[in-house]
Amino acid sequence: KASRVEAVRELIPAAAPAASDEPFLQCANVWKAYGERDVLKGISFNVKPGEVVAVIGPSGSGKSTLLRLVNHLESIDQGEIRVGGRYVGYVKENGRLRPTSGRAKARAEVGVSMVFQSFNLFANLTALENIMEAPVRVHGVPRAEAEALARRLLAAVGLSSHADHLPQHLSGGQQQRVAIARALAVKPRLMLFDEPTSALDPELVGEVLNVMRALAEAGMTMIIVTHEIRFAREVADRVVFFDEGSIVEEGAPADILDKPSKERTRRFLSVIG
Ligand code: ADP
Ligand code: MG
Repeated sequence: KASRVEAVRELIPAAAPAASDEPFLQCANVWKAYGERDVLKGISFNVKPGEVVAVIGPSGSGKSTLLRLVNHLESIDQGEIRVGGRYVGYVKENGRLRPTSGRAKARAEVGVSMVFQSFNLFANLTALENIMEAPVRVHGVPRAEAEALARRLLAAVGLSSHADHLPQHLSGGQQQRVAIARALAVKPRLMLFDEPTSALDPELVGEVLNVMRALAEAGMTMIIVTHEIRFAREVADRVVFFDEGSIVEEGAPADILDKPSKERTRRFLSVIG
């Protein structure tokens, strides 16, 4: 286990210098509506370098929407999101912040990577090729260099011997580990996980959580939307409880998960627990 943390640590950018108290991610009064429906109602939310934040909350409460906004997949209606102190990737237009064209490049610039519930691997590419894709196509990394990195990433997630497998020949847990390796290949400074184990058979959840745990211990800055309460308690520095587009409460895992101060949080935990 220690060696996995070491292997991962060598592959991720150093955490931002502690000299700065600046949060790495700053969301201030973020509003987002779909049609008439307010999905995010003035979210303010910061993440410090190296911090691991678990986001929990009922289905439909806006958790995925928040991650998509941070990852420049959609525009925001009001408020601002800064990554590494910059608004990179957004332009202000009629008072709105709109993602600029070339979003993949914008994401690369700000250093955000996302892992989805449904893995989203390219079905026609091998595990190795999936990991090489973004470095080669978006970042212009020479193939040999991208392949060397991809092999080290596969080793770090325990899949060295699966380099040439197509996704359809991998288990869900293996596919998700490839997806994490692929997300790491662009050297992100912030990793977003949207229910990364929700689509997995129970016996495959652990292998994915182990990789995420190693990443957390190696110092990666992470936001993890999850229903794995035990994992959140153990790995997160902070737990944020979302409901109906607002942050209901947040704090240390022991406080939020074991003695929440809000009734809504208690109710949610009793239902999923
Ligand atoms: P969560 O991840 O917490 O389950 P989401 O962020 O996915 O919640 O969704 C929040 C709300 O926004 C839901 O009511 C959902 O139906 C709605 N929603 C999400 N994406 C869209 C979209 N592209 N168009 C319209 N409504 C959406
Ligand atoms: Mg969701």
